[in-house]
Amino acid sequence: MPRRIAVEEAFVTDEIAKEWGKALSSKFAETGFRAMGASILADNPGTKMVHARLTDLGAGRIAHMDATGIDMQVISITSPGVQVFDAVTGTALARQANDVLAEAVRRHPARFAGLAALAPQHPHSAARELERAVGQLELRGALINSHTMGEYLDDPKYWPIFEAAQALDVPIYLHPREPAPSMVGPYLDYGLYWAGWGFAAETGLHVMRLIMGGVFVRFPKLKIILGHMGEGMPFWLQRIDNRYRLGVKIGAHGSLPRLPSEYFLENFVITTSGVMHDGALRLSLDVLGVDRIMFAADYPYESVEDGVKFMDGTPVTEEERTRIYSGNAEKLFRLPAGRERAAAP
Ligand code: CA
Repeated sequence: MPRRIAVEEAFVTDEIAKEWGKALSSKFAETGFRAMGASILADNPGTKMVHARLTDLGAGRIAHMDATGIDMQVISITSPGVQVFDAVTGTALARQANDVLAEAVRRHPARFAGLAALAPQHPHSAARELERAVGQLELRGALINSHTMGEYLDDPKYWPIFEAAQALDVPIYLHPREPAPSMVGPYLDYGLYWAGWGFAAETGLHVMRLIMGGVFVRFPKLKIILGHMGEGMPFWLQRIDNRYRLGVKIGAHGSLPRLPSEYFLENFVITTSGVMHDGALRLSLDVLGVDRIMFAADYPYESVEDGVKFMDGTPVTEEERTRIYSGNAEKLFRLPAGRERAAAP
């Protein structure tokens, strides 16, 4: 079996979790975050186990990786990270989380790599933090959990973050969170704000705003990573282009130098996190090609065992399996090559 690198693996610091508790008790807490938070911080054995796994950047995490056959985790801050705090608190907690993660990577360089947490609430500080995280802490990019206080990154005020990412040549993982305050209403019933539907709806919207807002015209080399087999985007590209052409024709919106799908195929990379379906992977391979798909297990939220079983057995060539499991991640994140797993399952 090829080296297995899982690239959407979550952690949190005690400080951030504690601050979530405070933010949730504020009367200004966003409705969606309040709904999410009730689950995240619920006092039951399931959430306690998840929390224990999220805060462990040492022996417990590595033992789980050994038991499930994961050689390396690319670790990032769990949703919604620091994006629900005021700018000063968010910026400080992101910086501290990046120091904690970098220290864990230094202790276990063969098993862990990391993506920086950023607080888009203060775009210029976030850009400087990305530079520090990559230049000094040797993190491999950043992860942003979709909207920040209901705002999306197509707003040019956030573009210093993209400018830094492009200059450093590191990717930004656009990870889901619950839908923004302006759209969460109908998602509050039946738990639809959650990962079963609302996450993809929210993040897919964010992707379309980035493309239509001209982010990739301004930053042609920017790389964005999407989890969950591309949040449904590979399935929709033909229809998006089709309706985009009509929209331009009837003057519903302006035109881009290229079709929306061309930006998606040029600037996005997707991961398999949480989607264990041969057909969904097949479609993604057909649409994006094997170079733009990476394996992710979504620890500790999904079954890593099921993710590995899926990726070990899905009907692709061994060359494709190797690229998805590790080759593409080694290249994109500039990871040291070589198998380091302590034990195989
Ligand atoms: Ca995740």
